[in-house]
Amino acid sequence: MMDEKLRKDEPARTVKFSPPLYKQRYQFIKQLVSKHKPKKVADLGCADCRLLWMLKFCNCIEMLVGLDISEDVMKENMHKLYPLPGDYLQPSERSLTVILHQGSVAQKDPCMLGFDMVTCIELIEHLEVKELEKFPEVVFGFMSPAMIVITTPNSEFNPLLPTVTLFRHPDHKFEWNRAQFQNWALDAAARYDYTVEFTGLGAPPLEEDGVGFCTQIGVFVRKSLKNGEPEKCKEHVYKPIFKAVYPSLQDEKYLQTAVVNEVVRTSQTIARRLLVNRKSKIKKGCNDVETDCPFLASCFLKDVKDPSRTKADNPLMEPFINGQTVFVPLAKIFSIPKVKQLCGTSETLSKLITGKVALSNDGSALLIDTEYENEELELYNGL
Ligand code: SAM
Repeated sequence: MMDEKLRKDEPARTVKFSPPLYKQRYQFIKQLVSKHKPKKVADLGCADCRLLWMLKFCNCIEMLVGLDISEDVMKENMHKLYPLPGDYLQPSERSLTVILHQGSVAQKDPCMLGFDMVTCIELIEHLEVKELEKFPEVVFGFMSPAMIVITTPNSEFNPLLPTVTLFRHPDHKFEWNRAQFQNWALDAAARYDYTVEFTGLGAPPLEEDGVGFCTQIGVFVRKSLKNGEPEKCKEHVYKPIFKAVYPSLQDEKYLQTAVVNEVVRTSQTIARRLLVNRKSKIKKGCNDVETDCPFLASCFLKDVKDPSRTKADNPLMEPFINGQTVFVPLAKIFSIPKVKQLCGTSETLSKLITGKVALSNDGSALLIDTEYENEELELYNGL
């Protein structure tokens, strides 16, 4: 497990953060995502994919990409990024694709173009000198997302962490004080036309407030829209290691299933209600229960598709029973808010359910055979 070792930057004795600092960093990113609603987010140095896992629940995100130099560390938990059974039972309205690549932030790959937000959480201090030199050109210059968030340890805080000797973690190549980080960040921002604001997480104890936050953060925002063609870089150098496409109502296959389920469910409820009514009429000795049915049934051979007709001038909005069959007009079904929201138009409704449910000859009503329902009702009523 890389996780506990690499999270050794948590203060051990004198200073203790609650929630732990790594969770505060993820929370910080989640808040930025809620505020700015990026659609495409990449996490560089994503390690065991914890931040990605948290971000997959943010509804604005449609593309979530992780990159790390270590394939092994990503593979520890990447299974958590697959859709769950519930995602298939109730597909989301948004589309979501999650992808992991093995590769270095010192290399350009076209799969990293077009992102709205790129996060680099506790990454830069793990880079070799040569990689750190390349980093601004790759991330700011080439990827050039609308927003970049970089967090790194503040070395001025280290004396408050008694277990820290040289660096907070053996793999750190450096740890910067606030001036070093800010100089580097301001230089990158100026070169690549970004603004930068500095903040941090993990405040020091009151008596030590001159040292700054335990984690220092730079939030970079690109000043202008990216002009012209993106830099030519066609060669893929990252190794794809994971891809999950979440079920979404934007995919016609899932939309159709959702619509058919909703239509059948509501039509069956309507049919049951009609049957119960009819039975109670029969019990009360009413003998006109079926007289209008042959007329209505014959009407379904005519045009009843005009959804603009109101209930008053369009009696065919109303479902009815003919023999053993309940006719539920599509106009009635389309008036159900959930169906309307899923389909948008009555034409789409027709298209999605045709061939999946029994329809009247002219396609304007859904037919429910009530033989089974009758038996069930009789059982239910103890008849
Ligand atoms: N971002 C993670 C988080 O907040 O939990 C953890 C970051 S971990 C401290 C640093 C990660 O950077 C490691 O997983 C390491 O493999 C990765 N890394 C180091 N050098 C890299 C490089 N050149 N390109 C991409 N990832 C790199």
